[in-house]
Amino acid sequence: MIQITSIADMHAARRSLTGSVGLVPTMGYLHAGHIALATRARAENDHVIATIFVNPTQFGPNEDLAAYPRDLPRDLALLAEAGCDIVFTPTPEAVYPPGFQTYVTVEEVALPLEGARRPGHFRGVATVVAKLFNLARPTRAYFGQKDAQQARVIQTMALDLNFDLEVVVCPTVREPDGLAMSSRNAYLTPEQRRAAPVLHRALTAAQQAWMDGTRDPAQLRQCMLDVLAAEPLAAVEYVSAANAQSLAELHEPAREGVLLSLAVRIGRTRLIDNLVL
Ligand code: AMP
Repeated sequence: MIQITSIADMHAARRSLTGSVGLVPTMGYLHAGHIALATRARAENDHVIATIFVNPTQFGPNEDLAAYPRDLPRDLALLAEAGCDIVFTPTPEAVYPPGFQTYVTVEEVALPLEGARRPGHFRGVATVVAKLFNLARPTRAYFGQKDAQQARVIQTMALDLNFDLEVVVCPTVREPDGLAMSSRNAYLTPEQRRAAPVLHRALTAAQQAWMDGTRDPAQLRQCMLDVLAAEPLAAVEYVSAANAQSLAELHEPAREGVLLSLAVRIGRTRLIDNLVL
């Protein structure tokens, strides 16, 4: 595996590749969810490019950019083991040099849910992913269902801007107790970590209600709220039952394609999770 840090070297490395390329964009501090994306990319492509970049433009002013966990040596070892060929680790100055002024804004699917609580977040995500698509020119790009709205934003951008690639969305990898793996889980104290599976319990309770015949989206949301209310450490930001394609909040009974999602603060750590019915 080779590590590349400059834009010019990344362009040159890509020019030398023939055959299919799988791209796995990450912010590092890797866990089994990231490795599942790399493993899938390895199985489906001639070459695998992973990126590690904590993208400043997708963090709000009061978010955790400075505190975001990092461990590059460990990440490099894990990516090498997963069979990556190239890992691209640019600096913020290389990605956003002086004079940078071009951004990608995806509209409707970026507005609700995370977009409503994190203004500018998806503009930062879409911009950096568009840049990575231009640098890596992947055949396939791999993203996690864990960040369901991000996946919809990127699928929409790829379609609208005619990126000639396939966006592959991979299932959420979870801890044995149901907690979705996330680099941010590292922020949790042991007590908070014990409380955190409540997100998944809330989702599965609503899923059970769905399987028992509940189709009213308000009841599905209430079902999640009831489970969350029983956990004193959980402060709910939102629960949602939305159309999984448009991400529009549902107010009428739906047949299928319902995205249940939620954002919950446990102490100062903001966790998100989701499940598709
Ligand atoms: P991040 O490093 O948090 O930006 O995540 C990089 C990629 O890994 C994104 O496409 C995420 O959706 C995906 N990812 C993060 N956590 C998980 C998980 N638990 N299971 C599957 N994919 C994940």
